Amino acid sequence: MDDTELFSKLLGLTAPWRVTRVSVNVPAERIDVWVEELPGTTFPCAGCAGPVPVYDHTPEQQWRHLDTCQCRTYVHARLPRTSCPTDGVRQVPAPWAEPRSQFTRGFECQMIDALKECDVTGAMRLLGTSWDPTWGVMARAVARGLARKAKRVPVQIGVDEKAVGKGQSYESLVVDLDQGTVEYVVDERTQASLERYYRQFTPEELQGIEAIAMDMWDPYIAATKACVPDAERKIVFDRYHATTQVTKALDKVRRQEHKALAQTGDLRLQGTRYLWLWNEENVPPWRREEFAGVKHAELKTSRAWAIKEALRPFWNYVYRKWAEKYFKAWYFWATHSRLEPIIEAAKTLKSHLANLLTYFKHRITNATTEGINSKIQTLKLMACGYRNREHYKTAIYFHCGGLDLYPRPQVT
Ligand SMILES: [Zn+2]
Repeated sequence: MDDTELFSKLLGLTAPWRVTRVSVNVPAERIDVWVEELPGTTFPCAGCAGPVPVYDHTPEQQWRHLDTCQCRTYVHARLPRTSCPTDGVRQVPAPWAEPRSQFTRGFECQMIDALKECDVTGAMRLLGTSWDPTWGVMARAVARGLARKAKRVPVQIGVDEKAVGKGQSYESLVVDLDQGTVEYVVDERTQASLERYYRQFTPEELQGIEAIAMDMWDPYIAATKACVPDAERKIVFDRYHATTQVTKALDKVRRQEHKALAQTGDLRLQGTRYLWLWNEENVPPWRREEFAGVKHAELKTSRAWAIKEALRPFWNYVYRKWAEKYFKAWYFWATHSRLEPIIEAAKTLKSHLANLLTYFKHRITNATTEGINSKIQTLKLMACGYRNREHYKTAIYFHCGGLDLYPRPQVT
């Protein structure tokens, strides 16, 4: 077997394609391989698929392939262009590469493997590729994956907002809670942005959504009510988001009280912020004594804390009816606490009560997306290197979309 035959085999070429020349430069650790079609070959026209003769060739192009031993390997070819009476002059695609790629499919697969394991700059260092082409591979992988993805409405979804970068910039994520995959990423957290996700589906298809976990965020609520049949029964406000309302109120009470006490020289609340915010069992052992000291003091903060802690058992109820009864008692206590921030938070929860109680039917929260969130957090840390929002979105789909990313060899 001579070297042209060997490389034809290694590249997986079939007739009419074959390697016509191989150049090995050992000191430069580089191999160049030239590929041509057999003279006189007819190709299917890119328009009508009918067999058409070769009209001319493109200038020589180069694709990086998998290394051969220690040598970087490049494939060179002038691609034929066909001439069809109906469709005119069309270029024949290279069977070893995706259109517009400067890599062979084999090399793209290797890049996708590397990109799955490390960040973009890491993959670039390992493979010796540069920024734009590496993103090109990632973007093509995502486009392929999205195109292959079956159009299917998830049974349970989570709608989650994410702050992006500095300032008040947000995006919305739709997550399939059963599969743990990101289904949709869209800029903003407006009604219109979430409606764009729903509008891909018919009302009959949207009927298939059984439950939707989300924050108590009006635009999401409006979009869901506008698009999803029976939304009232399906929306479940995220319990962690609901709890946060009360935790934030408690923190406000503490800040106000600390300020007032400090003016009289009473510094009991100094440095206690997290003692109040943690769930009681999570207070670290070496601070328990300190916490016991302030917890039972006659402070507004300790009252607010007790109300915060008292909301926790609400989520443990099995039956909606009992949970509702418990909430009413809690609400009475909270609204009679004379603690303005707590009263306000309790009223917010009360006005959303119907869809807090749906939790006892569907039992979903956005914490199901914890794995995704931590991945996205990592992507966000790397996002300074992403330079733009499109890249960030591409990365989310690439790592969290559950997509079939790899190029498949062309079947001829
Ligand atoms: Zn044609």
